[in-house]
Order: sequence, then C-alpha cells, then structure tokens
Amino acid sequence: MPASSREIPYPPRVNLARIPTPLEPLSRLGEKLGIELYMKRDDLTGTALTGNKVRKLEFVLADALECGADIVLTCGGAQSNHARATAIAATKLGLHSRLLLRTPDPSSPPPLEGNIMLDRLAGSEIVWITPDEYKRRNEIFEREASALRKSGRKPYIIPEGASNALGSWGYVRAAEELLQDLQGLSGGQADPFTIIHAAGSGGTAAGLIVGALLTGLNARIISVNVCDDRDYFLRAIGKICEDMIAAYRLDLDFSREKNISVVDGYVGRGYALSRPEELALIYDVARTEGIFLDPVYTGKAYFGMVQELERDRHCFGERVIFLHTGGIFGLLPKADEIAQIL
Ligand SMILES: *Cc1c(COP(=O)(O)O)cnc(C)c1O
Repeated sequence: MPASSREIPYPPRVNLARIPTPLEPLSRLGEKLGIELYMKRDDLTGTALTGNKVRKLEFVLADALECGADIVLTCGGAQSNHARATAIAATKLGLHSRLLLRTPDPSSPPPLEGNIMLDRLAGSEIVWITPDEYKRRNEIFEREASALRKSGRKPYIIPEGASNALGSWGYVRAAEELLQDLQGLSGGQADPFTIIHAAGSGGTAAGLIVGALLTGLNARIISVNVCDDRDYFLRAIGKICEDMIAAYRLDLDFSREKNISVVDGYVGRGYALSRPEELALIYDVARTEGIFLDPVYTGKAYFGMVQELERDRHCFGERVIFLHTGGIFGLLPKADEIAQIL
C-alpha cells in the first residue's frame, strides 16, 4: 500500500527550490513524435539557483546546517551544474563553499564562463583537479576537510551530484508533486505514464523510483545515461535506493532488475561532449517551444528519447513526461559549436 504523504518519513529540509514546478503539455513536439508529450519543468526551480540539484540540496544543506558547518565542499566537472547550485545555495544560507572541479590540466584551467563564472560570482573557491585526482576525490575531500578543521573551520562534504541517500529525497518530493500533477490531467492516473530523464550521478533516478514506490505513482521511470554505461547505472542507482531503504527503514518491495530501467547508447562522444545532431535537436526544441535543453544532460536524454521513438513509436506507451532537469548555463560556453548548426 502506498503511504499517504503524511506518512512519508521526510528528513529535515530547507526551502531553496521554487516548487511545485509546472507540468506543461508540449503539443507541437508531441505531435511530431506521435505521442502525448509533457515536460516537467525542473529547469524552473529558480533562476541562477536552478535545476534538479536544488531539490536535493534542500535536504543535504539542512543536514549541513544541523551539523554546524560553516563551509561545504563538493565536486564535479568543470561546468558542473551541481557545483554551481551548491555555491549559490551555500551563499544564500550564509555558508562558504569550495568546489573540486575536474579539468585536464589544472595549470591552465578553463575560461571564466557559464557555470564557472557563476561559481566565482557567488563567492566560491575553486580547486582544479585532474581526472585522475577526481577518481581519488574522497581522499582529497578528507585532506581538505582535515586542513580546514585544523584551522578551526567546520567543513561538510557533499558527494557528486548530492546523490546520496539524503539528497535523493528531493526526488521523492518531486514524485509526490508529479502525482498531484497527474491527478489534474484528463485520464488522471488510470493510464500509465512514462517519465524520461537524464542520469549523471543517479540520485534523481533513485529518488523518483523510491518516491514512486512510496506514493503509488503509476509511472515507468526511464533513465538515459549521459556517461558510463547501463551496468554502472544499475549499480549506482540501485545502491542509492538500497541505502535510502535501509537508512530510513522503508518497507518497500524494491529490486534493481524490476525497478530500474536504463536506456543506454546516447553518451555520444563522451560526457559533456556534443555531436552536431544533438545540438541540432536542442535548436529544434528551442525554436519550436521556446525551451532550452542543455548539451550535457537533457539534450542527450531528449535525443535518446527521439531516437527510441523513431525505432518504435509505442516503446514508451502513449503518454510521456520528459523531466527537464535544467543546465542552461552549460549551453553558453558552446557558442562556437552552436554557430555551426544554426
Ligand atoms: C546533474 C544533472 C542531471 C543528472 O542528475 P543525477 O541526479 O546526477 O543523475 C541531469 N540534468 C542536469 C541538467 C543536471 O545538472
């Protein structure tokens, strides 16, 4: 039996996200694709403090405050949306932030543009690290944190994407919100929905999956991976779900095989690298609906959805919700590549 919302054991939370976000019908794009298409606009959780990470940070930063932190440490790619959202949210709550960002050569870091510029404007300190160091980031986090403690500071470490058993509660709340959204539509919950989204660190998927089980949301959740592969995400998403179930003693019938669906094959040239056909589709969506997908996540997930539908128009059923998880600032440093497809 799904729990009523009062029974969902949410951890403490701070208000950061402008929610509920709208669920918009996209009839022009839907008609092209031969489906009933909606978009859940989590790109509208804020202006600079925007995207899916804001929902997760509501829970993680509540814990940081509870722990008496004065500085948060987190990590990501050079143009990380998560790092930018953390920098802004931390400042808003009166905390400092330090970001470990990945770049091939830390002695010549990327230019001050897109998310990086916002990180700096929000007062964040950036520590550039190599891809090899990034693999050992937990050691670097510990080293930084212990140096900070020695100088009397109170550091709090937020993992990549705030994708742990705590941050993922942000997407349990989103599942509850979607349940409300669907009740407002004709056909309501009677016909199943497919929810399609981009997966990067797995927390959004885990939160939606656990949230659907907790609320009884009648939807199939499809995760399109933008890095690594299907096996990696079955493990990553599965572990977060299992950690949530154990840590909060949730009585749920969950299994990796039954509850996780990863559609692989759309990483393209690699994480944060674009193909012209992906950018062309971002252009198509922008000029058809006035909505901007991002090149790193939502553009690739949307591209994957379109390709799968071209193979089989019925593969996701008749009603699809594309979850727009944000990322617009990652589009800005791609001007030269975008100029090629206009
Ligand atoms: C981080 C991010 C994602 C992926 O979410 P995860 O919870 O890390 O899997 C998707 N879209 C955008 C725009 C993001 O910044």
